[in-house]
Amino acid sequence: ASRQAPQHEAPNPNSRVKKVIGVVSGKGGVGKSMTSALLACAMRRRGYHCGILDADITGPSIPKLFGIHGRAMADDKGCWPIQSRMGIDVMSINLLVENEEDPVVWRGPVIAGAVKQFWTDVVWKDVDFLFVDMPPGTGDVPLTVFQSLPVDGIVVVASPQELVSMIVAKAVNMAQMMKIPMLGIVENMSYLICPDCGKHISLFGESHVEEVAAKHGLTVLAKMPIDPELAKLADNGCIENYGGDYLSGAADAIEKLL
Ligand code: ADP
Repeated sequence: ASRQAPQHEAPNPNSRVKKVIGVVSGKGGVGKSMTSALLACAMRRRGYHCGILDADITGPSIPKLFGIHGRAMADDKGCWPIQSRMGIDVMSINLLVENEEDPVVWRGPVIAGAVKQFWTDVVWKDVDFLFVDMPPGTGDVPLTVFQSLPVDGIVVVASPQELVSMIVAKAVNMAQMMKIPMLGIVENMSYLICPDCGKHISLFGESHVEEVAAKHGLTVLAKMPIDPELAKLADNGCIENYGGDYLSGAADAIEKLL
């Protein structure tokens, strides 16, 4: 990215990244990786070259969503991401370990160092939008990412239940403290569509996303339902085949960054 404050790490000299988008959440399991993947697909469909940097080192789920199981290769230029079927560049710790079921048993600083290397050592060639799937929460690694990478915008993913807690506020406040521009909130698992009558069922009661967004001065970018079809495609590594278009508002906001 062009904006490079003094504390930011220089990217691999062979990289060309136009915009870096951080996807964050207060806790795990709310669909942060799912949102990162679907946003990359949405932007790819709009004709942009996209990458996903899987910074969720202890819980990497990006390769699985795309059905990628290969081993990333390195040469004198750097370490090369693996391309998805649609042509999205993916780098994840799971593409570097011997056995993708082996846990990464590293302490915080080592994990943070690995994420930094995904920026400094990986060749992100002509990438318009690099999505960084952040680990949940406000720990070491998100801090390192915010300090080391020139993040141009943050998308916050939250479930309805998380929105009624203070957890999401902590993630939002962290990004705001670090002066990273916020693009807005995606409410995931917002509702369920009855397969018989099409009625929207609010499983977790009435949504509080507007209220929470207003409190923090944020935009509601999308409300994505729980979709069994999406879960199935994710489990089968075919996320790119998903036809739902719930994230177009978020994609519009991201496109405007260029
Ligand atoms: P996180 O990255 O926040 O930990 P994930 O993206 O891994 O969460 O999602 C957690 C689980 O929920 C995954 O199994 C994923 O396939 C599923 N999931 C996420 N969003 C949806 C959705 N809208 N509909 C159905 N399943 C979903």
